[in-house]
Amino acid sequence: MPSSRHYSVALVPGDGIGTEVIPEAVRALEATAKTHGFSLDFTDFDWSCERYHKTGRFMPEDGMDEVKRHDAILLGAVGWPGVPDHVSLWGLLIPLRRELKQYVNLRPVRLLKGITSPLADRGPEDIDFMVVRENNEGEYSEIGGRIYAGTEDETVVQESVFTRRGVDRILRYAFELAQSRPARHLTSATKSNGIVHTMPFWDERFKAVAADYPDVKTDQFHIDILTAHFVQHPDWFDVVVGSNLFGDILSDLGPAVAGSIGIAPSANINPERDFPSMFEPVHGSAPDIAGQSIANPVAAVWSAAMMMEFLGETQAADAMVAAIETVLVDEATRTRDLGGRASTQECGRAIADAL
Ligand code: ATP
Ligand code: MG
Repeated sequence: MPSSRHYSVALVPGDGIGTEVIPEAVRALEATAKTHGFSLDFTDFDWSCERYHKTGRFMPEDGMDEVKRHDAILLGAVGWPGVPDHVSLWGLLIPLRRELKQYVNLRPVRLLKGITSPLADRGPEDIDFMVVRENNEGEYSEIGGRIYAGTEDETVVQESVFTRRGVDRILRYAFELAQSRPARHLTSATKSNGIVHTMPFWDERFKAVAADYPDVKTDQFHIDILTAHFVQHPDWFDVVVGSNLFGDILSDLGPAVAGSIGIAPSANINPERDFPSMFEPVHGSAPDIAGQSIANPVAAVWSAAMMMEFLGETQAADAMVAAIETVLVDEATRTRDLGGRASTQECGRAIADAL
């Protein structure tokens, strides 16, 4: 945690529209810093598929050490045709999340003014919750294998890993978050009727950790019916916590019901703050629109707002989200994907002006 109100930010614009939207996030951050009395410095890192093509690696040997010297990382998008998704995922994003102990993946599900939810008759007052996803273990493990490949007996096994330390710390984070919000309500995603080892353990730990937070109201749903409730009763939720896989599903479904998968932000958080946390738009590098100055910069700016909130600049973060809303309600400052007329830079400048 920085001791002064100066923050050192590592920028990883990445590929495609990542390189177009990150400068707009920087523009918004600089405007916010001016009006809120803090200062920032930025260091650019060219970790991308382009670099991978040239050098065979996404980051240099000392990259991890370099990035650890910063207070936070703001990432655009990494991925490009010709580099399979799993190569950039396991070559850059997963090592960053794991080595920097970013065991929380956080996504706000919030219907902003100016955005229409695909759920009829739902307004901003109905859709405002957070999805907390376990980001380091669970179902996404490399443990498993295949036997009798290519025969009728072909058999494939994939193991999940749930440790008490890993489960307790994500649950504790979710309880703390719920406790800090007015509704004080935490929902757990489970499937203990079908998955008979890991999920009953998850439920058991949920109950155990809950004992330390008597003022937080709790409930739990099986993941299948929970997805239905997201669509039918988004107003039921305040904070929702899930394992790596269930959280992954919910953290895409959530922003979709908020009508905003294209403008959705996310955070990979290290709650102990011994290493920097990383903030990134949910969208990818969008090769189909890259280089045309039509990408929507809102997801990047909103991610930057989450970064400032994590760094303790809550008022600045709120101001950034309010500025986004001002821009979204006006066709002239919305980008094309939202039926507007503005370019990436025009939208970014409008956000900065509003700040
Ligand atoms: P990834 O696999 O890297 O997560 P993806 O390939 O699934 O991403 P995106 O790169 O996010 O998907 O693109 C999906 C679609 O959404 C594309 O048609 C793209 O043009 C559009 N899109 C994504 N981000 C934006 C944005 N910021 N502004 C406008 N359109 C976007
Ligand atoms: Mg893709």
